[in-house]
Amino acid sequence: MSWKRSSHANLISLMNNNPDCIYSEHEDGMQIFSGMPVSRGFASAPAYVFRPLNSEAVSEVKIAPSDVEKELLRVQAAITKTKEQIRSMANRLRTGHGSVATIMDGHEMLVEDTTVIGYLEKRIRDHLYNAEWAVSCTANHFASVFNQMSDEYLKERANDVHDIARRILRNLRGQDDQILTFTEPRIVVASELTPSETILLPKEMVLGLATDRGSVTSHASLLARAMGIPAVVGIGRFSEHVRTGDRILLDGSRGKVILNPGASTQQAFAKVVARAHQIMETVDQFRQKPGLTKDGYPISLLANVDHKTGREELQAVNAQGVGLFRTEYLWLSLDREPTEEEQYKAYSKLVDTLPKDQEIVIRALDLGGDKMVTGSHLKEANPFLGNRSIRFLLNEPKMFQRQLRAILRTSAHGNVSIMYPMIATLEEFRAANAVLNQCKLALKAEGIPFNDQIKTGVMIEVPSAALIADELAQEADFFSIGTNDLVQYTLAVDRLNENVSRLYQPTHPAVLKLIDMTVRAGHAHNCPVAVCGEMASDPVLAVLLIGLGVDELSMAPNQIPQIKYVLSQVTIEDARALAKDVLSRSNCLGETLYADCKAVIKKWVPDVFFV
Ligand code: PEP
Ligand code: MG
Repeated sequence: MSWKRSSHANLISLMNNNPDCIYSEHEDGMQIFSGMPVSRGFASAPAYVFRPLNSEAVSEVKIAPSDVEKELLRVQAAITKTKEQIRSMANRLRTGHGSVATIMDGHEMLVEDTTVIGYLEKRIRDHLYNAEWAVSCTANHFASVFNQMSDEYLKERANDVHDIARRILRNLRGQDDQILTFTEPRIVVASELTPSETILLPKEMVLGLATDRGSVTSHASLLARAMGIPAVVGIGRFSEHVRTGDRILLDGSRGKVILNPGASTQQAFAKVVARAHQIMETVDQFRQKPGLTKDGYPISLLANVDHKTGREELQAVNAQGVGLFRTEYLWLSLDREPTEEEQYKAYSKLVDTLPKDQEIVIRALDLGGDKMVTGSHLKEANPFLGNRSIRFLLNEPKMFQRQLRAILRTSAHGNVSIMYPMIATLEEFRAANAVLNQCKLALKAEGIPFNDQIKTGVMIEVPSAALIADELAQEADFFSIGTNDLVQYTLAVDRLNENVSRLYQPTHPAVLKLIDMTVRAGHAHNCPVAVCGEMASDPVLAVLLIGLGVDELSMAPNQIPQIKYVLSQVTIEDARALAKDVLSRSNCLGETLYADCKAVIKKWVPDVFFV
């Protein structure tokens, strides 16, 4: 099961078509290669064969003892530049693909690692190697340490070591990044792609990726998925057979790459892609429709946004409002705290363009965990369990006040509410509201307008909050279940760690019980319950959530049409019966429950092909 699907992957998940048959036919000159399907979707385009400049071709050069300090300074300057580049790539990713920005954080940690730096400096100081040779030896040493590990994920980190070393070598030589600059759509073929090469691809022109090496857990694969680029990796010596311009068909769902396809294969492939578009067209017809089940039960479908989201994106899918405004991306894109004025402008920019009655839930800063700004946090052994979200805000009352003032001021423009992230205790909710009240008093004294009746909600994303939902519901105006974190904290499974992704199961009976408790507690106290985590945008889980009584679903705007389509094929009674059945099977594995729900929903939505 994959819970973070790109929109393209979702499109493919809606296909009820088995494209296997098109690969059995052999035509003259055509070659079929198999690899690992790491990012779903289809592509048909000429190849662009990427051969990285051989910046690793370094030979041993000895320096004079008197040059040691100079050489150390050279390498330090190159490392500092490397760190800056890595940080800037991480920030670039955070704005669009937050969850994978940690890859670059991992690179930064490697560059800062004292053992690595110590090893490198020793090569210069004691062995009298020049900086280039010292970097090359250090990279080979640590890459071979990773390579010898039995764990596949750690083995893959050898590739990251080489990526960083290449970058340091380029900086030592004053070379720029090797940027691909083609202006026509292409499928990029390479022996291997490093994470930074993948980030720097001209995304709009890259229809697919096919590499000789790599694995499901390699960071380039993670990036391809996050960027929605179909990809097949680990194809063997594929790149040796391809020349730039060769026609390629790539099936990222089945791990097939067809080189120089014959006419009939191209036709069969085109049919598969056409079928995908057909399903997309059906889904597209739901863009402007309201969220309704088959029997007309209304379900509010809202959008998850950040400061870069525009009104057009919401209007294109007829979102009924904003269920989650992630404010931390403003911090991350500036790499500092925005001023109260900057925040007020950023929040108002969206609020001012939306209809006045549309609900807009602005979430207080969710910094910490994998989302850090330079200097905001001291290093923590377990940042996801540390000074994160509401804890950080309550420890930084001045910063919290500046944000609450900006949100309150925005509330004068529309139907704005505030939501506190990662609440684990009733005291935290009360403490946050106490800071809010101080801000209200100050604004009143200053004669600045705001909505005094602004609603405050609790994000239910820590198991303790679900367990005391009854108490919280008596004081909160609404709940929004952050399932991304709720699953991670309930099951003790890092949401970003591909190593344990199999254990990350939203349909684990424990997770479903916590959601059920939250909904019941909320409804007993007139406190509506939304879901704003990724579960809301999975077709199977959206039906299950509705059956559990969730009132609103909030998701990335581009996911809304397909969820509307699926809900339109299911009656509320059927969804409730399904949820009741699932809740009664607490002795089952999460995987089993997901598979069973899928099988049932498939009967109601016949053309849905769940992966
Ligand atoms: C969640 O945890 O489900 C959520 C929506 O918050 P985020 O993904 O930003 O942590
Ligand atoms: Mg969260």
